Amino acid sequence: MLAAALATAACGSGSTQTTAAATGKPEVVAAFYPLQWLSEQVGGSDAQVTVLTAPGVEPHDLELGIKQVTDVKNAALTVYIKGIQPAVDDAVEPDKSFDAATAVTTLPAGEHEEHAEHEEHAGESEEEHAEHADVSYDPHIWLDPSRLATVATKLGERMAAADPAHAQGYRDRAAKTAATLTGLDQELSQGLSTCRSKTLVTAHEAFGYLADRYKLKQVGITLDPEMEPSPARLSEVAKLARSEGVTTVFTESLVSPKVAEVLASQVGAKTAVLDPLESKPSGDYVSAMRDNLKTLQTALGCTA
Ligand SMILES: [Zn+2]
Repeated sequence: MLAAALATAACGSGSTQTTAAATGKPEVVAAFYPLQWLSEQVGGSDAQVTVLTAPGVEPHDLELGIKQVTDVKNAALTVYIKGIQPAVDDAVEPDKSFDAATAVTTLPAGEHEEHAEHEEHAGESEEEHAEHADVSYDPHIWLDPSRLATVATKLGERMAAADPAHAQGYRDRAAKTAATLTGLDQELSQGLSTCRSKTLVTAHEAFGYLADRYKLKQVGITLDPEMEPSPARLSEVAKLARSEGVTTVFTESLVSPKVAEVLASQVGAKTAVLDPLESKPSGDYVSAMRDNLKTLQTALGCTA
């Protein structure tokens, strides 16, 4: 049944062969790292998982080449999060895609940067602005392991439906992955329960779900890592950081630390790398989240 569907898709796009056809396994295309990790855990040896965003590439506003668009069209399933990458949102087909954001309760997107854009660049770059305003929720759902556990379970059901012959395998691996993520959630919950500070000053607002889950407060300098913060936003964040006695401004490896360093020196704080996991870490999702926990415990003065 799946082979028939793949053959039809291949004919429709004029492509003659796909990786999936070559291995006989359904091809699952993941938009970027955390979804790749999740798809590999749930897909196991039954699925062939590829990723659209290469390691070391910042995924926001990724542009897709013709081959990648063809891969998405030919895949049995594309796993993505609507609102992170408009080109992926445009390429996916509703009946052959899984939007992880639909699996969980989302939080509203931050608004400060949009206001700044309206004031300072009125009339300019309306198209760019529209891209960022594409969804009304914060799309960084993977930084809450408890939400990602829910996504794992629903992805298992979705893969089982796409490849019924291996349904039990997908469901079993999804349950195992969800259990791992629930355990990680408990580690973070305990590790962040007793901290001197609760304020996270971050380079871009990726950590809203982590903050929501563990009762921290995120103050992001920008919403999108490719956007320059306005001077007004910078001084607003500096004021807040001073009044809350923030000791650390968090940077991330794929974004220039310059803005965070300037802010840190203004308020007498240090910088530390907190990984938003938008690209493949040196370990995997779980080990990178444990590293994030250690970084947070040091920066926020947690005693647990
Ligand atoms: Zn982001």
